Amino acid sequence: KAKSNGRGRYTVYEHSLEKVAQERMKMQQALKNAIANEELLLFFQPQVRQDGSQFGAEVLLRWFSPIFGFVSPTKFIPLAEETGLIHSIGEWVFNQSLHCIEQWQKNSIPFKGHLSVNVSAWQFALPAFADDIIRAVNNKGIKPSSVMLEVTETGLLIDIPDTIQKLSQIRKFGIEIALDDFGTGYSSMAYLRDLPLDLLKIDKTFIDELGKSDHSPITESIISIGRSMHLSVIAEGVETLEQSNRLAALGCHIYQGYYYAKPMSEDDFVAWLFTHNHSPNIALLS
Ligand code: C2E
Ligand code: MG
Ligand code: MG
Ligand code: MG
Repeated sequence: KAKSNGRGRYTVYEHSLEKVAQERMKMQQALKNAIANEELLLFFQPQVRQDGSQFGAEVLLRWFSPIFGFVSPTKFIPLAEETGLIHSIGEWVFNQSLHCIEQWQKNSIPFKGHLSVNVSAWQFALPAFADDIIRAVNNKGIKPSSVMLEVTETGLLIDIPDTIQKLSQIRKFGIEIALDDFGTGYSSMAYLRDLPLDLLKIDKTFIDELGKSDHSPITESIISIGRSMHLSVIAEGVETLEQSNRLAALGCHIYQGYYYAKPMSEDDFVAWLFTHNHSPNIALLS
């Protein structure tokens, strides 16, 4: 009796695994056509300074599939990386971001900061990555300082000399670079000193702990490391006034999170820009 139960369960388990694999393949197939079918969309999440003035916005990709509905990038970006689709998707996101900046300038939209674009490790690893980025910006004729790149440790540590060369080339051109999800990877300190970066992004997992107790050793360390290495520090996933106040007291420079604004469509972001059009309060900048 026990044996037949076991077999029964095994069959159900095997069946569901098969279904999961089939679902993945269907999703990969759908993702392949997502650009051509205009199912991908850029969303924008504001990044603000301590006084609430605009610093820029992060570009966050959205997929609205007629088959699967809304699919989170935490699900489809890994799929795109497995299939190599990340290269065409990444190129599309970057060009589309440049296109938005160009249009906003043409239409006198009060966009003063930069768009910060996420770059997958797979994109960064391509030999022509830096050249491609620079060429795309030059072709559009927009200021390099109106874009920024967000890279993760995973992408940077594979070949450190190569990473340093690419980052230097991109920064010399005038594009700033942020290290995303800082503190969540394996190694953090040793290489940080050698990499040419401009900003550190504190991961949301550390921000979540702020406000739960008076003690926040990791966030405190990240901010002080950033400051002592002359990197600007961005906190991501700030959800409460309490967290915002705590970060300000610790000397965090830039803030991003639902407390300020959620990621939004281009129309909503443009409306946001009109209501956040004041100049930064110089007295509050350090
Ligand atoms: P990320 O780059 O670390 O982006 C931050 C994520 O935190 C975004 O999730 C954002 O919506 C979310 N977030 C921001 N503030 C808050 C908050 O206050 N509360 C909560 N609960 N969440 C907040 P999203 O949009 O789902 O993106 C997830 C990840 O997918 C991104 O993490 C990034 O790694 C990846 N991703 C998104 N767009 C792209 C893209 O165009 N290219 C690549 N390569 N990756 C992308
Ligand atoms: Mg990011
Ligand atoms: Mg992040
Ligand atoms: Mg993150």
